[in-house]
Amino acid sequence: MLDCIIVGMGPAGMSAGIYAKRSGLKTLILEKNTPGGLINTTNLVDNYLGFDDITGPDLAYKMFEHVKNNEVEYKIEEVTKIKKEDNFFTVETNKNTYKTKTVILAGGRSPRKVDIEDKLKNIKISRCSICDAPLYKNKTVLVIGGGNSAFEEGIYLSEFAQNLIIITRNQVTADAELLSQAKKKDNIKIIENEEVIDISEKDNRYLIKLKNEELLVDGIFSYIGYVPSTEYLSNLGILEGSGYIETKDTVTLVPGIFACGDIIKKDVYQIITACSEGATAALKAKTHIIKQKIED
Ligand SMILES: Cc1cc2nc3c(=O)[nH]c(=O)nc-3n(C[C@H](O)[C@H](O)[C@H](O)COP(=O)(O)OP(=O)(O)OC[C@H]3O[C@@H](n4cnc5c(N)ncnc54)[C@H](O)[C@@H]3O)c2cc1C
Repeated sequence: MLDCIIVGMGPAGMSAGIYAKRSGLKTLILEKNTPGGLINTTNLVDNYLGFDDITGPDLAYKMFEHVKNNEVEYKIEEVTKIKKEDNFFTVETNKNTYKTKTVILAGGRSPRKVDIEDKLKNIKISRCSICDAPLYKNKTVLVIGGGNSAFEEGIYLSEFAQNLIIITRNQVTADAELLSQAKKKDNIKIIENEEVIDISEKDNRYLIKLKNEELLVDGIFSYIGYVPSTEYLSNLGILEGSGYIETKDTVTLVPGIFACGDIIKKDVYQIITACSEGATAALKAKTHIIKQKIED
C-alpha cells in the first residue's frame, strides 16, 4: 500500500510530492495531462519569488525537473474515483486501482467557458496566449474578461496583434498596475459593461455581436474565471456549494484526505500559495499516518 497519492501535477501537487517524498512517504503523483498544470498556458510569470521574469512553461519545466531529481514517482493517469475504505483509500484511474493511506487533492481548476460556447460550431476560442499568439501577428484580436488573467494575457497578445480589444461584462477588476500598462498601449481598447451575444464566421474572420455594437476580429481569447476540477469527488462530501473543496489548513472533512492549490475554496489563487499549501498538505499527511498508526 502507498502512503500518499497526490492527484494533479501542477505547482501544488509537485510541491506536495517533493515534501511527501522527502519526509519518507511512499508517494505517487497522478496527472491526467501535462506536468505543470495551468502555468503551461501562461506566457509570463513575474511574481513568483526567485524568478523575476520566466515563461510559464519554463517554470513548469523547472518544477518538473525538481520533482524528477527527487525521484518522486509519477504516472500519467486520470483519477476517476476515490473511495474511503476502513483506514485507507482506493484510488481508481483510467488505467489502474491503487490503495493508499492518504490522498492529497491538487487537481486545480479549468477555465470557464463563454456562455454561448457550446452552441458555436467551427469557432475556436483560445485560452492559451503562449500557444496561439503568433497566429495573430498584425491581426485584430478579442479578449473576453476583465480580471488579471485577461489583462496579463491581453498585454502579451498586443505585442503580436495590430489591434486588441478587451471586453468585460462588468467593470475591470484587474490590478491597477496591469490596467495602467494596458492603457499605455496604443493598440489596446478596453470596453466595459458589454457582453458577447453571438459569434459567427464572416469572410474568414469572426463577427462578434455585442449588446450595442458589432466587431470583426481574427482571433478570440477568453479568460472569464474557472470551474474547480472536482466532479469525480462528489461522493466524498468534501465540496462546498460552488464545487470547491472546503479545507482548514489543507485538512478536508474526511480524515486522511488533504487538498491544496486552486482546487480549494480560498482568497488567493496563485502559484506561491499553491506551493505553500502543497508543502503543508504533505506534512499533514505524514502526521496523520503517524498519529493514526496506519500499518501497511
Ligand atoms: C492565464 C493565467 C495566468 C496566470 N498567471 C499567474 C502568474 O503570473 N502568477 C501566479 O502566481 N499565478 C498565475 N496564475 C495562476 C496559477 O496558474 C495557479 O494558481 C496555479 O497553477 C495553481 O496550481 P495548482 O497546482 O493548484 O493547479 P493547476 O496548475 O491547475 O494543476 C492541476 C493539475 O491537476 C491535473 N488534474 C486535474 N484533475 C485530475 C484528475 N482527475 N486526475 C489527474 N490529474 C488531474 C490537471 O491536469 C493539472 O495539471 C495564472 C493562471 C492563468 C490561467
